Order: sequence, then C-alpha cells, then structure tokens
Amino acid sequence: MASESSAQTVASEPGEPESALETARRQLHHAAEKLSIDPNIVERLNHPKAVHEVTIPIERDDGTVEVFTGYRAQHDSVRGPYKGGLRYHPEVTRDECVGLGMWMTWKCAVMDLPFGGAKGGVAVNPKELSPAEKERLTRRFAGEIRDVIGPTIDIPAPDMGTDPQTMAWLMDAYSMQEGETIPGVVTGKPPVVGGSEGREEAPGRSVAIITREACEYYGRQLDETRVAVQGYGSVGANAARLLDEWGATVVAVSDVNGAMYDPDGIDTAAVPSHDEEPEAVTKYADTVIDNDELLTLDVDVLVPAALGNVITEANADAIAADLVVEGANGPTTATAGKILAERGVAVIPDILANAGGVTVSYFEWLQDINRRAWSLERVNDELETEMRTAWRAVRREFENRDVTWRDAAYIVALSRLGEAHRARGLWP
Ligand code: GLU
Repeated sequence: MASESSAQTVASEPGEPESALETARRQLHHAAEKLSIDPNIVERLNHPKAVHEVTIPIERDDGTVEVFTGYRAQHDSVRGPYKGGLRYHPEVTRDECVGLGMWMTWKCAVMDLPFGGAKGGVAVNPKELSPAEKERLTRRFAGEIRDVIGPTIDIPAPDMGTDPQTMAWLMDAYSMQEGETIPGVVTGKPPVVGGSEGREEAPGRSVAIITREACEYYGRQLDETRVAVQGYGSVGANAARLLDEWGATVVAVSDVNGAMYDPDGIDTAAVPSHDEEPEAVTKYADTVIDNDELLTLDVDVLVPAALGNVITEANADAIAADLVVEGANGPTTATAGKILAERGVAVIPDILANAGGVTVSYFEWLQDINRRAWSLERVNDELETEMRTAWRAVRREFENRDVTWRDAAYIVALSRLGEAHRARGLWP
C-alpha cells in the first residue's frame, strides 16, 4: 500500500474544469483570510494526513482478471475518526479524493459531529460491472484498506456509484477478516445489518430543510417557490419530493440523459428516482430539455444534485435563480462562486446543505456502537434539530461578517477546527 503525506496538485489548464482539490484549497484560503486563524493551522489543513492507493485485481465474469486502482484519502482527524464516502466512478483520482476529503472535514465540523474528513473510491465505471463483479471488487477493496479503516479510525459510507448493498459487503468483508461482526466500520448499510432508518433519504432531506430555512430567511413562501433540481438520485429525488410535499413547485428534474420540464409543476412522487428505476426521468418526460438548460431555467431555487463542477465560469452569468442550494458535492467552481456572489445570487454550500447524509451516518454509528436501533421518527426529528442548529450557526456568521454563505459555513468549520488544533497542538 502506498501512502504519502503531502499533496502535490497540478493546476488545471485554462478552460479545463478545476479539480475538486483546487476548488477546496481556494475555498479554504478564501475563508481563512476572513478569520484570524493561525496560518500554521491553515497550512496543516491544506494537506491530507495520508492518501492510501491500492491495487484491486478482480476476476471478471468471463474468467479474465482486471486490475483497478482504489484510494482512501484521510484529510484531518483532529475532531474524531475520519469519515466520508467511497465512490465508484471512472473519473476518481487521487486529487479528487483529497479535495472531497477536505470537504468532509469542513462538513463534519459545520455540523459539530465528532468526526474528521476522508473520501475514497475506485476508478471504475460501475455500470460496466455485474452485481457479482461489484461484490468481488468491494470485498477485495475492503481487504486492501482494512488496516486503515475501522469504527474508531476511519468510517466509509456510500457516495456516487455505491449504495447500501456495497456497504453491507464492505462491512461483511471487514468483519470476516476481524473475526467478529463490526457494523460501525461503515455507515449507510441496510437497516437489517445495522444501518439506520432514514439514512438513504437524509442528504435529500437536509437539502430540503436548508432550502426551506433559506426561503424563510429571504421572505419567500415555499408555495410561491419554483424549483429546478438537477439529478434524481438519492439526493435530488428526496429533496425534490420533500419540497414538493411542503408546497414548492418543482418544474424540472433530470437524469444523465436530460431533464423533464413542466412549468406547471411535476408530480415528483410519480417520477421514479434513479434508485427505483435508473435513468427513468427522461423516459417519463413529455418535454425533455438538456441538463445545461435546466441550470439556467427561470426558477427561484436551483438545486444542483448530480455531479461536481456543473456551475462554472461559462454559465454562472446565465443562472436565473436567486438561490442555489448545493445538493451535490462541489457543483460550483470557485470562479463561478465569485461571479454568483457579485450578481447577488445566494449559494448555500454543500457542506451545510447535503450534510444530512453524514449526520445520519453519525446517528447510525451511535446505534451500531450501542447495539440499539432508533425509529425513523427519532432519526428525522434529531436530523431536523441538527440541521437547524447548524443553519443558525452559519446564519450568525453570514449576518455578522458580510460574507457569502459559503464563507460563513467555512468560518464556522474553520473556527472549530482551529480551536481543536490549537488545543491539541502539534505532535511530537
Ligand atoms: N458521501 C456522503 C457525503 O458526501 C456521506 C458521507 C458519510 O456519511 O460519511 O457527505
């Protein structure tokens, strides 16, 4: 297993989308300038603690062996064990994992969870794997990262291309090697093996809660709010359905092939989410527009809940919504963020808006450790409380410091991280 402790990033070429790591670092420095945080602590936060790179050979169904590369980037653990998802996607890279791991550190700190940040994944197209191949890949990956994960060390979770079943295999592979069942090693498992009720819906639920709070803050009634949601996976579909249920008019939702658009409002319950029927949105749509067009629709609220880097320098001027609530991780590049700020478009950042996922992961971890399941009602009530508490902390900084919502969230996170680093000091 190769491990290294410092990050070298090659800046992207002009015109190329900026990497998650570049965006994460720019955002860190931008927010640090607004705080009297010790630059030595910022320097530490600018680098991951370790990046583990592993080789994963698996037998394909036709008997041939194929080798994939997997990563686990562990960014910071000053507040608790590393925490963050594992993605299966062809574009997974070392730098992407580091950047996304940094966002997990800020996300857990904004939510005041006793976790640090990590992210990992395998560079693979999961659509090209049979279920049996996906299982073999997951089990071997679990074996390769076994020494660096654990319920008090680093706790993976689902992310793009992985799901509760993937987490069940991971938990099983880890537990079989350890010789005992250790459900707390991963979160986002099916409830039958120690997963939490409400975990799958949680990121979408938090996006909906934060959209509701932000609309209220700006004096907008939900029943007079038109929303476009990019992506109809577990984040987008759950956010869209809850907002629809709470009175908003959802006029567009999308899958990878395009978007369904209905200016009179979509019955979101009738459109299958990606988990219910993959790529079904465009199949059921009367009017299909493309995904770029969805982003610039004349709506009040835009929720990018699919991929990263979709709001860029190229389209930031054309975003018509007054409020962007980030459902995906890193949907807005740093340059686009600047343009939107200049135009007065409020962008509620991913590290707050979609943090319901890791928050219910924390509830799941508590349930696993205590061997005691919570009811769905308790999970949703406690999530609501945590989201509102975090929203108020971020809103306080937003109001007091005249900064963007993203900077306000970073300020909350960095203050907590800075204090923890100061208290613990530098070892040895
Ligand atoms: N992958 C999710 C995220 O980006 C969840 C991480 C977790 O639950 O640990 O927030």
